[in-house]
Amino acid sequence: MVARIIESKCKICDDCLALEACPSTAIYRLDGDEPPVVDVKYCHDCGECIDACPNKAIVLTA
Ligand code: SF4
Ligand code: SF4
Repeated sequence: MVARIIESKCKICDDCLALEACPSTAIYRLDGDEPPVVDVKYCHDCGECIDACPNKAIVLTA
């Protein structure tokens, strides 16, 4: 399983709490005006980002 950002739910927060919570730095931003991105190579299925996102914009998917 890896984390996936549901773009329609992401509020594009100034400070992405999910990005800050990821212990693997698997979440990054190319552009502050767009939802963050998960680099699945570094995601290890811990779920920290899911708990951290206040908008439930992240899910774990196969
Ligand atoms: S905290 Fe959640 S809603 Fe906010 S930018 Fe990050 S993923 Fe999107
Ligand atoms: S599930 Fe864990 S490793 Fe994967 S993006 Fe979320 S916080 Fe990072």
